[in-house]
Amino acid sequence: MKTIGLLGGMSWESTVTYYKIVNETVKKEMGGFHSAKVLLYSVDFAEIEKCQAEEDWDKSAAILSAAAENLEKAGADFILICTNTMHKVVPQIQENINIPIVHIAEAAADKLKSHNITKVALLGTKYTMTQDFYKEKLVNAGITVLIPEEQEMEIVNDVIYNELCLGIISKESKEKYLSIIQNLAEQGAEGVILGCTEIGMLIQQKDLDLPVFDTAQIHAEKAARLSLEG
Ligand code: GLU
Repeated sequence: MKTIGLLGGMSWESTVTYYKIVNETVKKEMGGFHSAKVLLYSVDFAEIEKCQAEEDWDKSAAILSAAAENLEKAGADFILICTNTMHKVVPQIQENINIPIVHIAEAAADKLKSHNITKVALLGTKYTMTQDFYKEKLVNAGITVLIPEEQEMEIVNDVIYNELCLGIISKESKEKYLSIIQNLAEQGAEGVILGCTEIGMLIQQKDLDLPVFDTAQIHAEKAARLSLEG
């Protein structure tokens, strides 16, 4: 079995989800007492969030590169960065290590394609929803991406940073998210990407008729399967 390197802590609330899913998936596949071989490097999210707010992506890339190097030295066979947003600096991190980074948006694109989804709603941080580093992976896979309008985008982003990353789950915010997703479905979205690793704490498939693609789950399941290959 290969060793999964988790670069987590962004936020730790969602890293818990990753740890649970990689283990559940390995157990499901192999049975008995089997569990995933995992190395976790969990950063201080306050440092990363400060870099984001100051748009100092180089600094965040340096912090995450150092963490990724440590995971490689400790014996990880590949790395998962347990956040959609910080995939913005994947190219810089990859330059510093010799093991592959399993890209969360590529994992999502593969999943959408396997469900024949050609137009999808994307919810995530303002960085993920508005910048190209993430959406381009979906667009390159032939998928049209719909994002909320300005005011709704602010709500989605604020709920992530002011509530979900702090472990706060609010019924009111859930209703707001469901209505934003409904608006995007009316514009033709055939599914919704939970493009922030904490959103799965708020919204699940049982809340919606529209197919839900939870990136934390998709990413973690892919890692577990990769760890069992070969
Ligand atoms: N975990 C979130 C994501 O998937 C947001 C936190 C962050 O900014 O990294 O994008």
